[in-house]
Order: sequence, then C-alpha cells, then structure tokens
Amino acid sequence: MYYHIGKKVRYFAVALCIIGVLASIGTGVYLYAEEKVDVVPALAICVGGSIVFWLVSWVTYCIGDTNVRIERLEDKLIPKPVYTQYLAGNNPLRGQCEICGKTTDLVNAKIEDKLGTRYRKLCRECYMTNNCKPAD
Ligand SMILES: [Zn+2]
Repeated sequence: MYYHIGKKVRYFAVALCIIGVLASIGTGVYLYAEEKVDVVPALAICVGGSIVFWLVSWVTYCIGDTNVRIERLEDKLIPKPVYTQYLAGNNPLRGQCEICGKTTDLVNAKIEDKLGTRYRKLCRECYMTNNCKPAD
C-alpha cells in the first residue's frame, strides 16, 4: 500500500489540482447563480481558489517526485549482493524483493500453496503476508 509512495503522491497532486480547480469554479458559479455573492467575489473564488489548489499541487508533486528520485538513488547506491557470497556466508541478503520489488534485506522464503511449492527471496513484509516458511 505504501510501497513506491512517491509515484502515488505525484498522481494525487495532479488529481488534487484538477479537483480543486473544478471545485473552486463550481463554488464561484454556484454562489453567483444563487445570488449569494456579487460577480466580483464570485470571480475571486473561481480564480483565487484555482490558484491556491494549483500551488498546493506543486508542493505535493514536489514531495512525491523527491521520494521517487531518492528511491532511484537508493537502488543505485546500495550494493547488490553477489549470490555466491551469500551462499558461502550467512550474511543478510540485500536486493530486490521478488514480489513487491522493494530494495531491502531479504529472506529466503518457501511458499507452499495450491500452485505448488516455490522458493523466492522476499522482504519481511511480503514474507509475513504470504504465509511463507523459511527455506532451508
Ligand atoms: Zn516484498
């Protein structure tokens, strides 16, 4: 749910901008049509509200984009393990989870279900959520 959150935050920023602009214009038009405000305050609500949502979406997008770039850097900077070294020693395996793709410490997991028995290198979260057993 929270993996690769940066991408989701970027989509959320775009949605926030679109929904905010539409809501601002809708509110201004509605208040003017119902004769609750004059034309100038109605226009101020339409334009001002749109600008506020547009600027807030910039900040939101920036947060998501920063997260995406940090994840990309993390993938490049954290060294991937050499598989033979892993077999020789008992070091924690670091790399990409074979289910969610997150780069973290991995566990050798045995998955037994109606599809059969499979062995995967998984992060702790995927290990827990898939009812895995340790692979010996
Ligand atoms: Zn995972």
